[in-house]
Amino acid sequence: MKTVRVSCSRNYDILIGNGLIDRVGEIVLERFPQKRFCIVSDSNVAALYLDRTAASFPQTPESVVFQPGEANKTIDTVRFILELLAEKHFTRSDMLIALGGGITGDITGFAASVYLRGIEFIQVPTTLLAAVDSSVGGKTGVNLGGLKNQVGSFWQPSLVISDPEAFSSLPAREFSSGMAEVVKYAAICDPELGDKLLHEYDVSDIVCRCVSIKRDIVASDERDAGVRQILNLGHTFGHAIEKVSGNSYTHGEAVAIGTVMAFRAGEKLGFCKSGDTSKAVSLLERFGLPTSCGLDRRLMLDAMQNDKKRSGGEITLVIPEKFGRCKLYRTTIDALGEIMSGL
Ligand code: MG
Repeated sequence: MKTVRVSCSRNYDILIGNGLIDRVGEIVLERFPQKRFCIVSDSNVAALYLDRTAASFPQTPESVVFQPGEANKTIDTVRFILELLAEKHFTRSDMLIALGGGITGDITGFAASVYLRGIEFIQVPTTLLAAVDSSVGGKTGVNLGGLKNQVGSFWQPSLVISDPEAFSSLPAREFSSGMAEVVKYAAICDPELGDKLLHEYDVSDIVCRCVSIKRDIVASDERDAGVRQILNLGHTFGHAIEKVSGNSYTHGEAVAIGTVMAFRAGEKLGFCKSGDTSKAVSLLERFGLPTSCGLDRRLMLDAMQNDKKRSGGEITLVIPEKFGRCKLYRTTIDALGEIMSGL
């Protein structure tokens, strides 16, 4: 088992190891004895892992299961969880356990951050994407209307337990989506990770490397006011792709296309070279990810007007300077329209 220690407003460990899903109860009770727990999961993940996770506790914990999918990442689902906690008389010293992918982690973290003005929670990511990205760093939230993560909080977990064997149950498309975020880390600051992906690799090592990168970036800018925004490589374009396509692309697929758009924008602005872009494209293609889309660029630009990275009439983009180094680039919406035409 590997341990990555995170130091920020709350200090916590990320544990990574095969088979940990059957040891959640043991690990959690060792660190947090005397607490009551409620496992939150969607019905897909619950069918695979809820009984196994619950069985790892000497006393069966409470659980709440919601319907899967981005459409259920809503305040209504949070309310459903909060009402159950109140009904079961959960107190401030009790804890939630997010068992699932990114949506489950975001919803559970948000519920934990507001129940009784904040209770602790644990992340047990069951997707590669959640393990390398969303389970670490404390961003929680839900969508509002068509706006992604419009309501939420910064609320760090107290522990992350990551079992790469659990990711093996993922459909290939889900696993690839997680790989888009892995390639993102390589493109931001770790070209060696990119090289590693070209050869045989151990998923635990990859998860460990990615969360260590994220840990370092989050530690220096927990609330996303500066350098943390670098983690959004491909995401400003990606969120627009998700929205305009009506979520027909997964988050990772949209980020893959968005990352290539960011590289092409970097070329257009004279920051990087076509060789950098091809490196990103070939890695993403290796994992079966899309690298372009025919969506209407004007509709994408409209979607980007609501992006959280926007302030005043300007938006901050993450633009590569080469494969393995990126910078924040502020531009106007008008100039962005110009940049996007022909990308
Ligand atoms: Mg992401």
